[in-house]
Amino acid sequence: MASPKPAAKPVFTSKPGAAVLPPVRTGPPTPRSLRGFRDLLPADQLVWRHVRQVADELATGYGFGWIDPPVLEDVALFSRAAGRHSDIVTKEMFSFTDTGGENVALRPEFTPGVVRAYIEHGLLNNPQPIRVAYWGPAFRRERPQHGRYRQFTQFGVEVIGSGAAVVDAQLVAMFYHLCEQLGIAPVSIQLNSLGCATCRAEYRTELVNYYKPKRRYLCEDCKKRLSKNPLRLLDCKNANCQQHIAGAPQLLDWVDDACKKHFMAVVEYLDGMEIPYVLNPYLVRGLDYYTRTVFEVWPTADAAGSTAALGGGGRYDDLLGLMGGNPTPAAGFAVGIDRLILRLKEMNVSPAAPKAPDVFVAQIGEQAKIKALKLFERLRREGFAVSENFSKDSLKAQLEIANKQHARYAIIIGQKEVLDGTVLIRDMDGGVQEIIGYDKISGDLERKLKNGAASPIIEEGAVAPVEGETPVTAPEAEAPQPKPSGKKQRSSSGSQLSLPDSDENLVEGI
Ligand code: AMP
Repeated sequence: MASPKPAAKPVFTSKPGAAVLPPVRTGPPTPRSLRGFRDLLPADQLVWRHVRQVADELATGYGFGWIDPPVLEDVALFSRAAGRHSDIVTKEMFSFTDTGGENVALRPEFTPGVVRAYIEHGLLNNPQPIRVAYWGPAFRRERPQHGRYRQFTQFGVEVIGSGAAVVDAQLVAMFYHLCEQLGIAPVSIQLNSLGCATCRAEYRTELVNYYKPKRRYLCEDCKKRLSKNPLRLLDCKNANCQQHIAGAPQLLDWVDDACKKHFMAVVEYLDGMEIPYVLNPYLVRGLDYYTRTVFEVWPTADAAGSTAALGGGGRYDDLLGLMGGNPTPAAGFAVGIDRLILRLKEMNVSPAAPKAPDVFVAQIGEQAKIKALKLFERLRREGFAVSENFSKDSLKAQLEIANKQHARYAIIIGQKEVLDGTVLIRDMDGGVQEIIGYDKISGDLERKLKNGAASPIIEEGAVAPVEGETPVTAPEAEAPQPKPSGKKQRSSSGSQLSLPDSDENLVEGI
């Protein structure tokens, strides 16, 4: 028989029999981020900055300027643009009345703000079309899940002032090349035409006639859509509703000749550029303002968890007129950067690690610290990749950091160097170090970095002379080593250097 478990030891306070309770926390609870809102920590930034850089270069390469509309706008701007019955307006906007009584909203998307800016600042008077790109946070009060947040980042572009089909095709191509350059192609580009307001009105009637007899089989949302926003019936994700989509009339059969011609041209341009796409007759996008071409970009079918589009866009020829501007054709797209980055991670695509520092500036002592601070600024301004950790006083600790950062060289300044007007420059690969004049640092460093930074081959106890200098005696065995371990190691110069265990050994060499 298994021996019974010893009873858990009771914990007693000074009063026998009273168990110790965890200390009661007083004060307000520790603040936490809101549901659906995230911190992007330093470790996340490498990939975020990489994507930003690729997006920047892409937009610039295609001739786009940049625009930053405000985060907060009049709520009416968004409801007017997206449509009163759209999901964004009815369910997802962070809108509130501010203390001055104004009804405002955090932007759920950028297009309305960009269009407002175009009208407000008379950009119509500039050569058309205007091409602008944006990057920044957008806010939607959706149910948070994988790839869906309440604050997310969008990169997007708008071309305002041209109705040409070639613009639509170039936008699709641009999105495709973004995915390609980031290493997440192939992607699935879904393409459709919604026609113009006239042909869509006829189609809407046909669609409602098709769905009316099926009303009782539809989900509650779709029942509402039937009267308010029938096109949205076509992208309902509910399994029951999906069964009816396949038999629904297709928009492309209802678009008029002009819209058909426009769409055929888009398709021809895409074929000409060899951009892969699939026609999806049920793609409607969620917003009222789209006309003619619409598209979405999805991870390919094999993508794990690819239940959400990476982005999408299309033409919105009526929006400017609807917002009180001159009727002006326009088109654009928005990319969800959070989802793009999730996809990069799923595909194990990681950006190149940042360049290691050319040089780490280390110091020992107060006077040396002042000199090192000045040197750091000088080298940084001269364009060297320079790093430091001036909050550390121990040289050993500083060199360990330099080593972890894979710095090519360390410049070490101690009290003696301050008095002599010199510094010690140390090759972090081989451990070889030499003394050079303070004024010669930049030239010497540049030469070393340019020459592949091969460490000078020197005799034990001597350092190779710097051009135009007489040889100097090397600091001896106490020279600081990149990986202090107390063991003997062979330096690239072939000399036996003892690795220091403590700072004293390190300091002695200087
Ligand atoms: P939309 O114009 O609504 O299709 O949004 C364009 C893109 O923004 C989407 O394809 C997503 O990649 C991204 N996006 C939209 N809403 C969210 C969200 N709540 N969280 C993360 N990304 C989003």
